[in-house]
Amino acid sequence: MASIPRWLNPANSKAVMYAADAELQSTDTSTISVFLGQDFAPGWFGWIIPLDAGTCRVGTGFAQVQPECSPQRYFQQLENSYPQIFKDLKVIRYTGGTVPLGLMSKIYSSHAMLVGDAASQTKPISGGGIYMGLRGAKICGQIAVEALNEGDLSETKMSCYQKLWEKDMGEEIISAMAHRESFLDFSNEDIDLIIRFLSKPQCQELLLKYGDIDYPSHLAKKLFDFGPWKNSFLKVALKIADYANLM
Ligand SMILES: Cc1cc2nc3c(=O)[nH]c(=O)nc-3n(C[C@H](O)[C@H](O)[C@H](O)COP(=O)(O)OP(=O)(O)OC[C@H]3O[C@@H](n4cnc5c(N)ncnc54)[C@H](O)[C@@H]3O)c2cc1C
Repeated sequence: MASIPRWLNPANSKAVMYAADAELQSTDTSTISVFLGQDFAPGWFGWIIPLDAGTCRVGTGFAQVQPECSPQRYFQQLENSYPQIFKDLKVIRYTGGTVPLGLMSKIYSSHAMLVGDAASQTKPISGGGIYMGLRGAKICGQIAVEALNEGDLSETKMSCYQKLWEKDMGEEIISAMAHRESFLDFSNEDIDLIIRFLSKPQCQELLLKYGDIDYPSHLAKKLFDFGPWKNSFLKVALKIADYANLM
């Protein structure tokens, strides 16, 4: 299965996600926790998602697939970094995998269309693939019905799928990839700076009004237009440029 997208498009970036269904001593089923830090989730994040009272999904991901990166090691680091939270963690089962990221240049061929992870229909910032995959499947189904009715399964007909997919989600994916790229360079201090800034009441207002887990670019646009954020972002950007001796 994985060889098909490679055949259509050899160069796609990936994130590795490693998760465990686990039991934690918590009855809070309404709070999702996100953990940011280069020690246990370089270029990505860790998470706790409650499933029901007492059971949750705990995981961590990292951005680059490199031989020296071990998902188990980062998972252990996450646990070690927050001993108070994870002290009673009982792992029920481990799971994991890679998630392809970024707009794929070709998700069709004559008689063939790709959907879901095979077509890199995932959110570049969170790695979530359910929402995007379902949107892709809807468009793919529409073109499949048309193609069968017209008796035309040619490459040209299948390319309508790519056009509609890019019209629907292309801008969002490209914008989210750009934000993800900048996040990859952030140190723990940079992340702290940004979180502190986002905690300010004016930012909280924007987050509540425009935050949408499926379309983060809408919020990003508002935040970039927001005066004080521009200064703060500039500060981070200058710091990064300084680290890299670009100035
Ligand atoms: C740890 C982790 C956590 C995640 N959490 C979330 C989340 O919270 N929310 C979210 O939206 N997304 C999440 N994702 C991403 C999400 O799981 C995927 O984007 C989504 O499952 C993709 O669906 P799919 O049907 O395209 O591929 P898959 O779910 O991978 O399904 C492909 C199927 O094809 C089968 N298959 C493979 N090869 C063959 C073959 N040769 N012949 C027959 N069958 C074959 C596989 O066994 C599998 O059943 C997570 C991913 C990981 C790794």
